[in-house]
Amino acid sequence: MNANFKRTIKQYLIQESRRLEKSIQAYQKRLERMSPSSGDDADHVVNLLEQSHTLTILEQLRQQLNRVEAARRRVAEGKYGICVDCHRAIPAERLKALPYATLCVRCQSQRERGPRSLMMSQSSLQAT
Ligand SMILES: [Zn+2]
Repeated sequence: MNANFKRTIKQYLIQESRRLEKSIQAYQKRLERMSPSSGDDADHVVNLLEQSHTLTILEQLRQQLNRVEAARRRVAEGKYGICVDCHRAIPAERLKALPYATLCVRCQSQRERGPRSLMMSQSSLQAT
């Protein structure tokens, strides 16, 4: 991986984590402002839906922030861009498209096809 690309990725990750932290704060404030249902049942339901929707978004933002932070740690440790399974370099093209990738394409598809795949176990549960 060339130094230029590494620097670009580093800057991107710093910007990303700032952006995510801001969004998380904004959604948390929004959640705090949500009034504990006043008024009729319809209001109550709308409130609940809005709250759970906000919580879902918050959860997704936090997961995303975790991925960014993990990627920043890997950059700091000099492990960024190295597949965690086969320890080979992940091609720059893949990292440009997926900056938080921890697996090369081959290992990723192996994991997805593996028996521990969540999608697989869910669909087999539904079938029975
Ligand atoms: Zn690999």
